[in-house]
Amino acid sequence: MRDALGRRVDSVRATLTLRCNMNCVYCHREGEGRSGRELTCEEWVRVLRACARLGLRRVKFTGGEPTLREDLPRIIEGIRNRFRDVSLTTNGSLLRRRADELRESGLDRVNVSLDTLDPSLYRIITRSRYSPREILRGIEAAISVGLTPVKVNVVLFRETLEGLRELAEELTDECGCARLQLIEPMLDAEVGMQPATVREALRELSDLKPRLVRVRKFQNRSVYRLENGVTIEAIKPKSGEMCRACSRIRITHDGRFKGCILGRPRRLPVDSYRALLSALRRYIRERDDTMSGNRRRGVRGGRARGRRDLP
Ligand code: SAM
Repeated sequence: MRDALGRRVDSVRATLTLRCNMNCVYCHREGEGRSGRELTCEEWVRVLRACARLGLRRVKFTGGEPTLREDLPRIIEGIRNRFRDVSLTTNGSLLRRRADELRESGLDRVNVSLDTLDPSLYRIITRSRYSPREILRGIEAAISVGLTPVKVNVVLFRETLEGLRELAEELTDECGCARLQLIEPMLDAEVGMQPATVREALRELSDLKPRLVRVRKFQNRSVYRLENGVTIEAIKPKSGEMCRACSRIRITHDGRFKGCILGRPRRLPVDSYRALLSALRRYIRERDDTMSGNRRRGVRGGRARGRRDLP
């Protein structure tokens, strides 16, 4: 399907819960402010099957921490073979326990958030009792059951830039996992850390000679290769370039549709498959919001009404 701005829509990001066992200082909670009732397993399966029926080919589960949902394997099982790519973004803390059952249920791969290997910085950022070592063990567990490729999400701050090279090398040596997604932070307030850019991160890694190898169709993301084989994907959420090629819709934890992380939530009739198909079809056709547009207007949670151009 195509949206009102002519963008192909082929991907859905599903927030399964707002509950989390970490409390990252910068967390945007996927743009979800208030907490309503979490959709049940059956409701998720119905909503996602409707998305697949409309031609969406990729689903990413997120949260909160999605692995806190005990019924996660049942949800994944319920959409088995309906999507080309089923993935999950996780803080990795529960992967050692859950990787096997997730793979069995039909999950294809995981993204694991790990901003730094420095234990004290990690505790400051995540405000949790976990250590980076435990997360590395989670990554190993994911790789060992075939939840690959594992991509490691790194939100960029000046305080952690110095450790980037070590992070890239350690992931390669210990886990054989050589894909980093460097994410520029989206911040509405001070978080006690200084945001950094992809450009600064690449400068920090300049000894490893980053080389642009391609630009992904999905959100126009630039992909670089370091001379040691590590791949770096640049995520710049505030750039118009990303919005121009954004093919993703969102479903909130309580069953609302959003065209963008900052988009206006619209209620979905989660009890009826037929009604879902028609609501989703309409919302996708009407989707005209862009994060960069919404931000420029300073309308957090609001929609860029009537826009037909892209920033
Ligand atoms: N708990 C899971 C995790 O840690 O991956 C899933 C939820 S988390 C909100 C999803 C992704 O959003 C993570 O990679 C996280 O680093 C990223 N993220 C959270 N807040 C962000 C922000 N303010 N700016 C940029 N990325 C952010």
